[in-house]
Amino acid sequence: MENFEYKSASCRTIFGNGTINKLPDILEQQDLSCPLLLSTAQQVDQLNQLKNILGGKIAGTYSKAVMHTPRETTIEAVAIAKDLKADCVVSIGGGSTIGLGKTISFRTGLPHICIPTTYAGSDQTPILGETEDGLKVTISDPKILPGIVIYDADLILSLPSEMSATSGLNAIAHARAPLEGIKSLVSSLPDIVADPSSRSARSLSFYGSWLCGICLGNVGMALHHKLCHTLGGSFNLPHAETHAIVLPHALAYTAPMIPEIMKKLGSVFPEGAAIDGLNALQRRLRVKKALKDYGLREEDIDTAVTITLSKPYWNPRKVQKDALKEVIRRCWAGEDAR
Ligand code: NAD
Repeated sequence: MENFEYKSASCRTIFGNGTINKLPDILEQQDLSCPLLLSTAQQVDQLNQLKNILGGKIAGTYSKAVMHTPRETTIEAVAIAKDLKADCVVSIGGGSTIGLGKTISFRTGLPHICIPTTYAGSDQTPILGETEDGLKVTISDPKILPGIVIYDADLILSLPSEMSATSGLNAIAHARAPLEGIKSLVSSLPDIVADPSSRSARSLSFYGSWLCGICLGNVGMALHHKLCHTLGGSFNLPHAETHAIVLPHALAYTAPMIPEIMKKLGSVFPEGAAIDGLNALQRRLRVKKALKDYGLREEDIDTAVTITLSKPYWNPRKVQKDALKEVIRRCWAGEDAR
């Protein structure tokens, strides 16, 4: 992929290898000089890389971002941002760290510069998912969208191939219309699993996840996301891995009501059909297919059905209790979608 910049009314995206080095200039252009840098505990090396690029000119660091944006973490991080008198937050990481940056920015009004390192696409959406007392809720507000996003494809080289596969499938879950995004991921993810250091495949996959993220930011969510939010928020299942398992099943459930879309989607897969294509892609990417492998118990299925139906999202095919239970059971057991 060529380097490029894309500016919409509310978000500027800077795409290309090595673009992380533009951060000092970007901060200066915005008159910002005191950033709080955010990461997970696993990405402290990348956080330190950022600190070096900024020549140590930062308010401080917070490296305790975790998945599903729990309320306790948010409260602690907001207090630290205020204590350190940060004038902006810079998040470097996947959706977990970006989610933390979004919630701090939303609560404090501090600008948020976002440096994604997975394919989650959260950087392109005005959506924030937060978890409290075992329930994950989402809010949507234009102020949640980060102002500047830096897609440096060199930063994604370190994403382990298993996570690349599940996170890439997570990105495909976001794209309904832009076939280009799905096509880029379907063709590049198997190359990444074969060779995680391939810069060309990484760049193409990051481009695909960016397109899919833009799509997620502009559409409503339906059964797939409702199910994944329930499984993540109430059973603490890992985000990308859960999306990677649920995607073909949620799509198969909805497929009878969206024949034209299914036809277009099918054209992107070598199998010529979307459900067969996704089942095959899961195998090619060697992702786990069963939620029970991530700790969901068979007796949790009924609770998951109840929570999913308690505040349902709109879906092209109405979500019926027994059919939903069968969808979750198949995901739990690791069966192919059909
Ligand atoms: P993540 O951010 O939790 O990352 C998973 C693990 O991989 C972490 O340990 C992380 O530090 C590590 N990692 C990330 N990038 C790496 C890299 N390049 N090299 C090495 N290690 C790396 O996982 P995720 O799937 O990106 O994000 C999940 C979270 O994002 C969930 O909380 C989900 O709800 C949220 N999300 C929100 C939106 C939205 O629009 N609001 C969209 C997608 C995901």
